[in-house]
Amino acid sequence: MAEVILKNVTKVYEGGNIAAKDINIEVKDKEFVVLVGPSGCGKSTTLRMIAGLEEISSGDLFIDNKKVNDVSPKDRDIAMVFQNYALYPHMTVYENMAFGLKLRKFDKAEIKKRVSEAAKILDLEPYLERKPKALSGGQRQRVAVGRAIVRKPKVFLFDEPLSNLDAKLRVQMRTEISKLHQRLEATMIYVTHDQTEAMTMGDKIVIMKDGVVNQIDTPLNLYNYPTNKFVAGFIGSPSMNFIEGTLAKNGNLTFKSKKGNLNLSLNKNYENKLNSYANKTLWLGIRPEDIYDPNTVSPSANFTKVNVNLEVVEPMGNEIFLYFSIDGEQFVSRIPAREKPEAGTAKEILFDTSKLHFFDTDTEKTIV
Ligand code: ADP
Repeated sequence: MAEVILKNVTKVYEGGNIAAKDINIEVKDKEFVVLVGPSGCGKSTTLRMIAGLEEISSGDLFIDNKKVNDVSPKDRDIAMVFQNYALYPHMTVYENMAFGLKLRKFDKAEIKKRVSEAAKILDLEPYLERKPKALSGGQRQRVAVGRAIVRKPKVFLFDEPLSNLDAKLRVQMRTEISKLHQRLEATMIYVTHDQTEAMTMGDKIVIMKDGVVNQIDTPLNLYNYPTNKFVAGFIGSPSMNFIEGTLAKNGNLTFKSKKGNLNLSLNKNYENKLNSYANKTLWLGIRPEDIYDPNTVSPSANFTKVNVNLEVVEPMGNEIFLYFSIDGEQFVSRIPAREKPEAGTAKEILFDTSKLHFFDTDTEKTIV
């Protein structure tokens, strides 16, 4: 069993900078939880408080129901994998992995057994006698993970472990760490600024901004039911499109953008939630995949035609991103690659009005 619970945890650095504010997170046994958010949002600080590398200013941290605020890092039974791997350059791979166990006075046979097991899991057996400088970035990363595995800790902490790797290797290591999680059945907490990493790896994702947790949920729920405009824009690539406007009620509810270039008559389903916003301003959000090319979908009563000027066309191979502006706001749509629209031309596109999101202008909270 290895549960980690943060209760109202706050970190105020010297000088009064509040890096983490009233953080409440429950990490269940064997769960893979990802802390994600833009740079400076407090995710590393939060992870470092769990590791014991940073003092908690207020609030409580429990590992397996034991309050550990004042327990030293080495006695918390956790292992951390850092962004820069922190390998010892003068030691071989074997020695690097064995080092922590040696310090803890494990006997030689046990050390050998554990390092061999870890090397096997991580495909490092051929490299045990090499020094880190003779390894590729991905192999070094695996040694850093191996060093954590041999300790058999209750909890693994990862601080942006893949950010020094090139794009292809990052994707590969992503799956390796996910497989490792299944194999070890360990509790893992993983920090990244990359929403794709978070979405693909996490059982549960904690989204942070400015030291505050905005939402904790499964990847799919975050995508489909973001709690506010920030989460809606942060999760998903390319990001959700946003435009501000007002709601008019003359029979149906109609959304009209500020400069009037987007007019959408809204589906009845929105009425209950949006009625109180009649004649008020609000943000409309729509994901790139909910804006279609008329030539690639069958007609639907939910579609509203919009005429746009294509500014940029990005062929991605399997799909195409179309960039255009409405009221000066940048929009992007993703369409199947069969179509070949050209930049600088006019185009008719379809907004799926059954897939709209709305956010309060003042609070930026999700209305529907
Ligand atoms: P993230 O990991 O999300 O990029 P951090 O947790 O590293 O964010 O930092 C959160 C905030 O705390 C930032 O504003 C950062 O500048 C500040 N910060 C981080 N470490 C220290 C420190 N040792 N002293 C003062 N402020 C710090």
